[in-house]
Amino acid sequence: MSHNKIKQIALVAHDNMKKDLIEWVEFNKGTLKAYEILSTGTTGALIEEKVGIKTTKLKSGPLGGDQQLGAKIANGEIDFLIFFWDPLSVMPHDVDVKSLLRLAVVYNIPVACNRATADFIISSSLMDSKYERRLPHFDEYLSRKIEV
Ligand code: PGA
Repeated sequence: MSHNKIKQIALVAHDNMKKDLIEWVEFNKGTLKAYEILSTGTTGALIEEKVGIKTTKLKSGPLGGDQQLGAKIANGEIDFLIFFWDPLSVMPHDVDVKSLLRLAVVYNIPVACNRATADFIISSSLMDSKYERRLPHFDEYLSRKIEV
């Protein structure tokens, strides 16, 4: 859960999926105004240019933007991740993509990897409620015994 009251939504799309995401953002811009939007560099620049919504732009995904988003998830600064990754292309930063998706699962963040899921998330009544996201207990992991 984010530190302030405004929920933070991260928007990312690979190049072949950017058109899809821009259309989705355009369609939902009224709803999205209530959230703080963060995105990887190129995705954010396109959202600002095409839809006119202000976003906090991180580095471009392959240049560390996915990792920056992952760090924010680990810090509890992202409430939702909308990530339209390209299932038909090989990515130079595939490990970063996996890492981002993995951290979203570790920290129990709702993730949409396609428009249908994004539609279900954005239209959920839980979007506006004070949802208490359950965090896994890492105690067992952190207190594991390591023989050295
Ligand atoms: P981009 O990065 O928005 O800078 O294109 C997206 C990504 O590949 O994660």
